[in-house]
This record gives sequence, C-alpha cells and structure tokens, in this order.
Amino acid sequence: MGAAQLCPRCGGSGVLRTNAFGFRTCLDCVGQGALARLDLARALEPPLRFRRRSTPLPEPVQFSAWLSSGAR
Ligand SMILES: [Zn+2]
Repeated sequence: MGAAQLCPRCGGSGVLRTNAFGFRTCLDCVGQGALARLDLARALEPPLRFRRRSTPLPEPVQFSAWLSSGAR
C-alpha cells in the first residue's frame, strides 16, 4: 500500500454520485480519493524544525557597531 489509504466512501475517485446534484465532492477525503493519515502531518515537522535551526542568530557586536555609527 502507499502512504495514503484509499477512501472507502468514494472508492478513490474523490467524488460521490448523488441523484440530486450529480457529482459532489467527497467530504471524507476532501476530493482527494484517499484518506489523509497522521503520518503526513508528522512528515511536515522536520522541515519546520530545520528552518528554525538554520535561522541565523543576530550578532550583538555588529548591532552595537551599527548603533554607534548611526548615532549622532
Ligand atoms: Zn472519498
């Protein structure tokens, strides 16, 4: 099986057949045809942590030097 489970309600098509409206987006899978798993949310965590880590720290020395040069 893949990373996502096939939606049992719409059978993977992402849409439901209704007599009134013809076709309607499957709310179980939000029209994707597959159920989103918690693994997907967990997979998004590492990049966010990496971005936090890679954020450069402000250097107080350069900042104070900029202040003294910009002061009157
Ligand atoms: Zn569905």
